[in-house]
Amino acid sequence: MFIGETASVIYSPVYCSNGRVYDAILKKPLDLQKRDAEVEQTLISAPDEKWHVEFLPLLCPNCGADLPGEKDALIVFCDNCHSAWNPSNKNFTKVKFSTWQEKRDDITYLPFWQLKVKVSGIQLETYADLIKVANLPKAPAGVWEQTPFYFCAPAFKLNSVLFLRWCRQLTATPPPKDLIDDFPAKKIHQVTLPITEALESSLITLSSLMSNKTKFLEVVSSLKFTLEDSSLILHPFATSAKELVHTKLGFTMNSAALNLGAYL
Ligand SMILES: [Zn+2]
Repeated sequence: MFIGETASVIYSPVYCSNGRVYDAILKKPLDLQKRDAEVEQTLISAPDEKWHVEFLPLLCPNCGADLPGEKDALIVFCDNCHSAWNPSNKNFTKVKFSTWQEKRDDITYLPFWQLKVKVSGIQLETYADLIKVANLPKAPAGVWEQTPFYFCAPAFKLNSVLFLRWCRQLTATPPPKDLIDDFPAKKIHQVTLPITEALESSLITLSSLMSNKTKFLEVVSSLKFTLEDSSLILHPFATSAKELVHTKLGFTMNSAALNLGAYL
């Protein structure tokens, strides 16, 4: 399983001159073997096609305002009408998001995926179910029988140890109630982890939350995870030079780890 892995294709520039193919950086002919002569001939005779680059205008499909063209961002947020969009596949798909609002101004919002997952083979509909399944040290409260259970995962890249820690911490915490759908959040850390990878992390999160590993191993082969619904939740963090502190839960995020994650 890969979380936050990125594969890149690197194009190496070449040019053709005097019937030879040259490395455009080293300005040397490519040292082609005899058996590669055919490849060389194909390259030489290939038509001089220009690169086809398609640009998607970053305008909000809802209100027409300019959307920020952030490099690597998988989701773009409209400042004007407070909507969020996934611009992949040449179309904009609306993404549900809400904000755990903080009144202060000096707040950075970090995005987390909140996933409603159908787990077949185990009763995991409510937060009370999680307490039972994971044997969490929490006194049962009637309200948790009515509180839906969600898996949570950072929507940005982090090293795997920290990533799993955040998955555990937030999944084991009752979901916030005072979320606001139409909140003009500024300073949103960019989303770089797709929902598919967040879903893949659910099994690891569940396994690490279940203190009874024998029980987990008994049921793991019958577990099936189906994503039923998802949304982004923006969590409020107060920033200092070294760390970000979740203003509601007190969990801390090392600034360097967050910045390093951008390069994973
Ligand atoms: Zn808009």
